[in-house]
Amino acid sequence: MLLSGGIDSATCLCLARRDGYSTRALTIEIHGTSPSEVRAARSIGRRVGVLEHRLVRLPDLREAADIAGSRALKSVPPTFIPMKNAVYYSLAAGFAEEKGSGLIIGGHNADDARVFDDTRDDFFAGLEKALLTGSPRLKRSGLRILRPLKQMSKPEVVAMAASIGVPLELTWSCHRAGEAHCWRCDGCRGRAAAFAAAGVEDPLTSKKV
Ligand SMILES: [Zn+2]
Repeated sequence: MLLSGGIDSATCLCLARRDGYSTRALTIEIHGTSPSEVRAARSIGRRVGVLEHRLVRLPDLREAADIAGSRALKSVPPTFIPMKNAVYYSLAAGFAEEKGSGLIIGGHNADDARVFDDTRDDFFAGLEKALLTGSPRLKRSGLRILRPLKQMSKPEVVAMAASIGVPLELTWSCHRAGEAHCWRCDGCRGRAAAFAAAGVEDPLTSKKV
């Protein structure tokens, strides 16, 4: 499964473990990925239990905000990454092919699908078909891409995460590098809003001085 340090993918990992799946985690580090996010992904993988955790570094892959002078990307959100999920899920499919896995799990919620075309059903249906066409091994293992949170809003994900015991204290939502969340960036503000809307106390906020 694709594991970032965020709440969505940590929730997916916990759901998969709860349902009895053995899991391998793939974390992708791109230009500007906070080391704290990678550390969070490692900690979550260890805590929840994965057979193997692979880190792939793609330092030339950048968010739109870090791509200077691209007129073609003028109207996309700053966190947009060109062909992000085609790249990420192809790497995950390669990992699955190598290990003989039949499922890839990703943590996209309904809020993501409103913003990013490559988190929607039609994109994943086409990608799944392309991956199966490209690999008789994946076809034999019946590879499917699962997105268990796809119909949930972020506050609904937070409520579920709290109810199934996701180690929320290990998750990372900040877009900036640092030892602690800044509580000022979009990632931090979105996290705070989601916890407030869900009526869940954030273990990170409660630790804040
Ligand atoms: Zn922040």
